[in-house]
Amino acid sequence: MTATLAALALLVPGVTRLELDNGVVVAIEPMPVEGRVAVVMAASGVGETPARSGCRHLLEHLVALGPKRDFDSRVERMGGYLRAETTREAVEIGMDGPPLALETFLQVAKEAAGPFEFTAEQIANEAKVIGEEAAIRPPYTVHAAAAWALAFGEGAPDPMGDASTLAAVPPPVLSSLQAEVFDPRSIVVAITGDVTIEEATNLAYSTLGTLPARRGAPPSKFAPGPRSEVLTAEVSARGSTRAVVVSSLENQATLAKLAAGFALQRAGEQRVLLFTESFQQAVVSLWSAGSDWSGLDTNAGTAVAPFAEAGIRDLARALAPDSPFARARLEARLGAPTGVRATGYLSSVAAKLSPSEVVEAAAWFAEPVALQVRGR
Ligand SMILES: [Zn+2]
Repeated sequence: MTATLAALALLVPGVTRLELDNGVVVAIEPMPVEGRVAVVMAASGVGETPARSGCRHLLEHLVALGPKRDFDSRVERMGGYLRAETTREAVEIGMDGPPLALETFLQVAKEAAGPFEFTAEQIANEAKVIGEEAAIRPPYTVHAAAAWALAFGEGAPDPMGDASTLAAVPPPVLSSLQAEVFDPRSIVVAITGDVTIEEATNLAYSTLGTLPARRGAPPSKFAPGPRSEVLTAEVSARGSTRAVVVSSLENQATLAKLAAGFALQRAGEQRVLLFTESFQQAVVSLWSAGSDWSGLDTNAGTAVAPFAEAGIRDLARALAPDSPFARARLEARLGAPTGVRATGYLSSVAAKLSPSEVVEAAAWFAEPVALQVRGR
């Protein structure tokens, strides 16, 4: 028993977690990635209400430009690259580049917290960009958004937002949203790569540490609402989707359902499995270009059994430390308050799933329990 625990401890990465006086949490993980550092800031204040659905996405677009619209050029001048993304849980701003750029990255992260002065013209422009993004969304992401709405109702509005509604958001609404989302107490910054703990600590204090502390109640966070009674939805995007609700990746049942999803992805033509990790509840969506799920509904076990072993391998590979999923996970999740379990560890747990667990979990994707989205 002791030997097993010691072995597991070695697999958990060496993350140094600092909490600055203003409440910003900084997670530092030196990694042997020669000549590169990455900074990811996740600002997780305030779950979105349906009435304000998409406002954080609009905020993300404007914040990523910077108050003087120079974030991109400052980061690029240092040889770096900036990207931004809005999920149900957080607005994320990520930068990576050479180690010398770390101070610039942290300074940009600090300035992103605002306050900015927004104008109606900027808002209208970025709303237009969001409309263009929405228009080229692949059908499976439209289906996945509908599945999330089925799973959690108004507690988890689609972060994308509607361009025409967003164009009319008044500047003061966006300013107060920036103050809420980027409250230092809801900011986590992960620093990974070719950096020492001492250097990263000093730079974090001299940049992020200067954000003014807030008083009053800390901002609320994303909290999925209760599961709705309705199990089906229709959307105007082709295909059909089966979706299941899961908890965090640390839960064995989540791993079994994901492996079943991978197995079912192999069991049919043109299927796409979508999963965004959450520390709370999340949705696994399996989209199919067609609508034939009959084998699944009549006997899920038979439909999935020939693919169960391959599904386990797919999952283990997705969780392996060098996979794109694992890299994104490390960047975005390091230092989250609940801690992080190494993807290598999760990958080895996933690899030990038994095919019978996967076959059993496949039933979650079948009628009458699966959430179903159909294209019109
Ligand atoms: Zn966008």
